[in-house]
Amino acid sequence: MTAYRTGIGHDVHRLFPGHELVLGGVSVSTDVGFDTHTDGDVLCHALIDALAGAIADGDLGTHYPEDDPESQDARSLEFVEEFAGYVRRAGYEIGNVDAFVVLGTCACGHTSTQCGATSPRPSRWMPAMYP
Ligand SMILES: [Zn+2]
Repeated sequence: MTAYRTGIGHDVHRLFPGHELVLGGVSVSTDVGFDTHTDGDVLCHALIDALAGAIADGDLGTHYPEDDPESQDARSLEFVEEFAGYVRRAGYEIGNVDAFVVLGTCACGHTSTQCGATSPRPSRWMPAMYP
């Protein structure tokens, strides 16, 4: 009998005008994107987070901390490929992944920049990820 392990990952980034939007390693043509130290690919980040959880080895931030200068402007799809190798070297095989992405613009009547100043920030409920 094969033992299965599962992990659930998530990631959240705010959208800003004039930034690149990358999902699953693909640059999406749009006028908003993520302002992060990497390409902000939430799909790739969530996949790594889920894989790390499945093997009970931390989370995305454990393996790719935001303050790592080597991650600056990194392509997150490369992190997924690297981390898949890490999972295999740890003795596991990735059998299936399932993910969805939710994107949205500010619906509070302000621009996204104004919205950040007037609405609850993720730091209030996820202080470890958004200091
Ligand atoms: Zn992220």
